[in-house]
Parts: sequence; C-alpha cells; structure tokens
Amino acid sequence: MTKENPFETAKQQIDIAAKKLNLDKDIVEWIKTPRRELIVNFPVKMDDGSIKIFTGYRVQHSIARGPCKGGIRYHPDVTLDEVRALATWMTMKCAVLNLPFGGAKGGVICNPKEMSKEELERLTRRYTSEISMIIGPERDIPAPDVYTNSQVMAWIMDTYSMNKGYSTLGVVTGKPLGLGGSKGRNEATARGCVFTIREAAKKMGIDLKKATAAIQGYGNAGSIAAKLLHEMGVKVIAVSDSKGGILNENGIDPVDVLKHKEKTGSVINHPRCKNITNEELLELECDILVPAALENVITSKNAHNIKAKIIAEAANGPTTPEADKILNKKGVFIIPDILANAGGVTVSYFEWVQDLQAHFWTEDEVNAKLENCMVESFNDVYEIHEKENVDMRMAAYMLALTRVADAIKTRGVFP
Ligand code: GLU
Repeated sequence: MTKENPFETAKQQIDIAAKKLNLDKDIVEWIKTPRRELIVNFPVKMDDGSIKIFTGYRVQHSIARGPCKGGIRYHPDVTLDEVRALATWMTMKCAVLNLPFGGAKGGVICNPKEMSKEELERLTRRYTSEISMIIGPERDIPAPDVYTNSQVMAWIMDTYSMNKGYSTLGVVTGKPLGLGGSKGRNEATARGCVFTIREAAKKMGIDLKKATAAIQGYGNAGSIAAKLLHEMGVKVIAVSDSKGGILNENGIDPVDVLKHKEKTGSVINHPRCKNITNEELLELECDILVPAALENVITSKNAHNIKAKIIAEAANGPTTPEADKILNKKGVFIIPDILANAGGVTVSYFEWVQDLQAHFWTEDEVNAKLENCMVESFNDVYEIHEKENVDMRMAAYMLALTRVADAIKTRGVFP
C-alpha cells in the first residue's frame, strides 16, 4: 500500500460529486463524518500460553437509510482511517444499490496467516464481545471482508447469541449455509462484479468471447471472478495473490490455479505459467482488469501504463483520485468499487432478510434477484454517466449522495 490515506480519498470522492450536485455544505460535512467509532484493545490467549493485546475497530459511518452494514477485516495493515474509509464506502455502496442500510466496517490489526485456528477463534470471540454493545440485527450487521470467512462469521453469531441467551441469526451475514447463511453469498461479490463487466462490455461493443482479463488478488472475490469470467468465454491470462502473479497468454484455467494455490499456498510457480509481479499484472495488455485485493494499487505512478479498456473494481478503493483522472483522460471505462463489488452486500441483504423471516430461498432465486439488482444499478449509474457527461465513479457517487442526502433531510436533525 502506498502513502495515500484512503479516508482522505473517500472524502475527496464525496466532495467532488457533492459539488457537481450543488449539495448543501452542512449536509456534505455531516455525510463525510462517521457517526460512531469504537476502538477496542483486548487480550487473547495465544497457543504458547502468552497473552497478546490486539487492537480492533468498528466504525459506523451512517444510519441515515437503515441499520449499519459492512464487513470485518483481519489484516496487519488495518488502521482507523482505513476502516473509516471502508465504512464510508459501505454507505455509498448500499445507497447505489438502494439497499435499506447505512455503512459500517470493522477491522482487527492481526496476521491471520500466522495464527492457529484456535487463536483466531479466541480473537474473534473477544473482539465480538468488545463490540457487541453496538452491533445487532437492527443496529449494525457485520460480514466477511479481507481474511475473514464464514467460519469467523459463525463464531461472531455464536458469541453474540451466547451473550443474548438465544440464537440471533441476523446479527451477521456471510454465515455457513447450515447456520442461516444464504445460498449464493460466497460467490456474490464476484458474480455481481461479472454482471457489471458484462453490462459494460455490451455498452462498449466488446465481445467477451474474444476478450482477455487480468485479475489481481485470488481470495474470495478474485478467484471466483476468474472462474466466472472463464466460464463466460473470457480468456483469463493473468492472476495474482500477495506473493506475486502468473501469466499465460494462451489462457489459464482458474480452477486448476485454485487447486495449485490450495496445495502450495500461492498461485505463483504454476507449471504452465510464467511468474510476474503484481505491478506487472496491472500493466498487462488485456481488455479487462479486475483489481480484487487491497486499496491504492492503481496510482499516478502506474495509471499511465495501464492498457485495459475496462477496470472493474472488485476491491474497495483500488484507484487513487490522481490515477482516476489519468485513466479517465485515457478513456478507460472504470466500474467503480461502490458498484462493481456491491454484489457481496446485496446478497448479505438477502441473507439478513431470509434470517429475519426464517424462510430461505433457492440459489436460482438468489442469483436472479442479484442479477436484477446489479443490472438495474448499473443502468441507473450509466444513465447519469451519459446524461451528466461524467465518469462512472462520479455518476455512482452522485446517485448515492442524492439518496443519502434525501434521507438525512427528510428525517431532519434530532432534537
Ligand atoms: N466486505 C464486503 C464489502 O466490502 C461485504 C459487506 C457486507 O456484506 O456487509 O462490500
């Protein structure tokens, strides 16, 4: 990650769109300010008998349009400003998709790759306990994010439920299927992203069967996006993870690469591919680039060298505002994060609805509803992009800010 502060980026993005919308300054200041920020320092018993103190955050950015919603990230580089930015983006993302949620995000500074399953469980349960007074199905509903998964969500659900004295399925989404999880949630971020790529390709006259793609990040979003694009006939030529990338201009088989990663711990050193760096991957000759890892990877330093026609931001905040300007000038079609990766939170919304009703949908139902939401939101944003002659990010922010500002103004200021 470079020096850019993602929270400054998020506020800048809001300012630019608010100016275009002529929004009241006080309302913009309110929207830019996270509503509630909780910092917790807590002990965890490690396997060697020692006690280690961890720091975690939960930032609730907005409740203007409904309860807070957003994932929890476990990563050594988590900072309060990063969590603030991610929470702000959740508010915008839920508004773009017209979901009845505000935004939140959580993070714990830790390296799950160096921790045992038991240590992770103890960390998760204590962190949940520390933030349990501000979460809940009507208040704030966490979900998976970088380096957290359905098992972590199950521990959160169980810890919260044990404190309440009864099982509360709707406190968290992204749970295992047998514990109130939704069919299709695991693939939802990638599936939603691929729907937006398909719609963008249609608008641009790109035949996906002749298109090539490079994907940065091989976690939940990246690996499944690679698989779905491959199934649609797109030639996936390069993928990467935190250890580096691989390239085969004749195309790679994403399922085979996933097996290789599961066996060796990384996508690199694949027998039929050439190793490349993450930086090289971003600058490859390809039609579609999918950054699906962390923030600030496309910057003013490499934006000039990017050759993709479409960038679909499966990660949150991968492009800095300076890089955005350069890419827009070059005519690159960017599907912004708050639209491109919104499939995850959309099916999280479906999961929450199913939990509250104790009535579960089929996978086809979930996927069809997701497709409707993604296509409709893509078209809403595209219409503003055309009508106002602005880039897709600006259009998405204009749509989101209009909805959030309307909610704030209609509710009024208490007391
Ligand atoms: N962490 C995901 C995101 O950034 C999903 C959030 C959720 O499902 O609440 O959108």
